[in-house]
Amino acid sequence: MYSIGIDVGGTTTKIGLVDEDGKIFKQDIIDTSTYVDINDFVDAIEQTLRPWMQERSHLACKGIGIGAPNGNFYTGSIEFAPNLPWKGVVPLADLFETKFKLPVIITNDANAAAIGEMRYGAAKGMNNFIIITLGTGVGSGFVANGGIIYGHDGAAGELGHVIVQPNGRLCGCGRNGCLETYTSATGIVKTALEVIQKYPSSILNQKLPLSSKEIFEAAKEGDQAALEIFETTGKILGECLANTVAITSPEAIILFGGLARAGHFIFEPTERHMNTNVLRIWNNKIKLLPSMLPENDVAILGAAALVV
Ligand SMILES: [Zn+2]
Repeated sequence: MYSIGIDVGGTTTKIGLVDEDGKIFKQDIIDTSTYVDINDFVDAIEQTLRPWMQERSHLACKGIGIGAPNGNFYTGSIEFAPNLPWKGVVPLADLFETKFKLPVIITNDANAAAIGEMRYGAAKGMNNFIIITLGTGVGSGFVANGGIIYGHDGAAGELGHVIVQPNGRLCGCGRNGCLETYTSATGIVKTALEVIQKYPSSILNQKLPLSSKEIFEAAKEGDQAALEIFETTGKILGECLANTVAITSPEAIILFGGLARAGHFIFEPTERHMNTNVLRIWNNKIKLLPSMLPENDVAILGAAALVV
């Protein structure tokens, strides 16, 4: 038996076949942005999958799991995703079901990552945890009492759009001061541009335009500006997590994505500020963990685990 996992991203879409032990034994990547028509996109994925499935015609396929930005578990649609080529509501699960005659389950990419982490990674055996992806945007998946929280309309877990700074930075969602505008890869660059004003001798002044990776590299060199950038970012994230903990009382929070690769530079201030601000009953009790899955695999694994 095997499952199909599809991770739809704004730039690329990853497709994989996953066995029951969580091993990806076939995978490929297609360029999402070239498929302006959703039907061409589904056809391209079919062309990738059919030969793989034919090679394994002796094995049963359990179904297709899809993780996608703004993917709605209840409706099987991608709904108003700002970074995908298709506008409005896209009935992706229906389109795949019609083609493959297999069960298709869709959820947002952060929820898929949470399921992957719960089944194969850092949250193995946990019934209550939160995964936060610090990438181009900030996504989150909440697991409570052993299950993903989908909410009334399927859109639960939008920690990236919790307002952490009233009248703060303008967010892609049209409001101001969302967590995403501070703790995403682009958010930390914005913070960097503010902080380096105070540090004319910082090596970051020679690296413009900046990327989050360069801030990490500078921090490793002991650059004061870079260290302050991580401190500021960790403070905003840690304070937000202290509030978040009060809602679902997680055993752990898993940080994932580009910014999490900065390791202790982001983990240490985040954990310190979380513990300074959290209700005393949770003080020093919530584990802040890195993902245990290879970054390239987690979305495919999580998506595939939707149908396991
Ligand atoms: Zn927002």
